[in-house]
Amino acid sequence: MSGKELDYIKEVFDSNYIAPVGEFIERFERAVCDFTKAKYACALVNGTSAIHLALRILGVKNGDKVLTSTFTFIGSVAPILFQNAEPVFIDSDESWNIDPNLVEEAAKKEKPKALIVTHLYGQMAKIEDLLFLSKKYGFYLIEDAAEALGAIFKGKHAGTFGDFGVYSFNGNKIITTSSGGMLVSSNEEWIKQAKFLSTQAKEDYPWYEHKTFGYNYRMSNVLAAIGVAQMEVLGDRVMRKREIFEIYKGELEDIADFMPEIENSKGNRWLTTLTFKERNPFEVIKILEKRNIEARPLWKPMHLQPLFKNAKSYISGVSERLFEKGICLPSGTSLKNSEIKEICGIIKG
Ligand SMILES: *Cc1c(COP(=O)(O)O)cnc(C)c1O
Repeated sequence: MSGKELDYIKEVFDSNYIAPVGEFIERFERAVCDFTKAKYACALVNGTSAIHLALRILGVKNGDKVLTSTFTFIGSVAPILFQNAEPVFIDSDESWNIDPNLVEEAAKKEKPKALIVTHLYGQMAKIEDLLFLSKKYGFYLIEDAAEALGAIFKGKHAGTFGDFGVYSFNGNKIITTSSGGMLVSSNEEWIKQAKFLSTQAKEDYPWYEHKTFGYNYRMSNVLAAIGVAQMEVLGDRVMRKREIFEIYKGELEDIADFMPEIENSKGNRWLTTLTFKERNPFEVIKILEKRNIEARPLWKPMHLQPLFKNAKSYISGVSERLFEKGICLPSGTSLKNSEIKEICGIIKG
């Protein structure tokens, strides 16, 4: 936390709006729009619900196919199942993010309704190529920027290229409201629908009138107050995350390859991630654990998950290799430089 959160929460309590309605929700939405230059925003209970609403609003339904990164977190993919649609998994390329060539191959064969692209670990996917393909083949583009708030490509923010962008404010993300999410779009009507559907789809009548069903997905005013304070430190957080990455890189470059950044982009370096040239990452994780230092494997690709054993996928082997060789290092912005060097010392042995 930055320090201002409790002041803003006190304002909420003084106003007595302890509900998914109130002034701070709008302030938080405006703060995210000001920072990212997104046009319209709807604050929600988490990032997963934001992806779900995007699919629902775009009309993704039973039998539709949705292309999606295989190298990602389940929260990116489960909403496809909520809509009874079919995920089609696409492998990564050398950028670690989704491979546009495989997307094109799949687009030709599968006639997808939408693509959900994850900007993995805070680094931009090849968004220009994906935008081009979405127009060429006529599918919607949803950017899962849950990990990538603050990342930019050619000066434009992750989440503001596609039909919808999604941010998460879960406890592990670059800034947090403990749990929270946001859906952004340049389509005003869609964001209006998101606000309607996230508050139980209540029609404008004196009583509760329902023509369709919605969800209880709107963010609480209390958590939005935390978000307003967190937005004030986002710029500093990105800077510090990038410094942490550079320190690790300076220390470990001889024994590891770090996650790249595509040309003309600047990621938020949410987590410092790398693949070892020779070391077994699962052994390194155990060695660190003995010193009470938490490191994690990279995401296990979705096409390898038991849940998706029958799912269609376009696989080159890149994400499988990344999972076998890779690791996420401790990357919290409260880490001291001396602690980062100590971690590197332990890894080098
Ligand atoms: C965290 C995350 C989500 C889900 O966000 P929640 O707020 O936890 O629901 C989705 N996709 C990716 C890539 C994430 O890292």
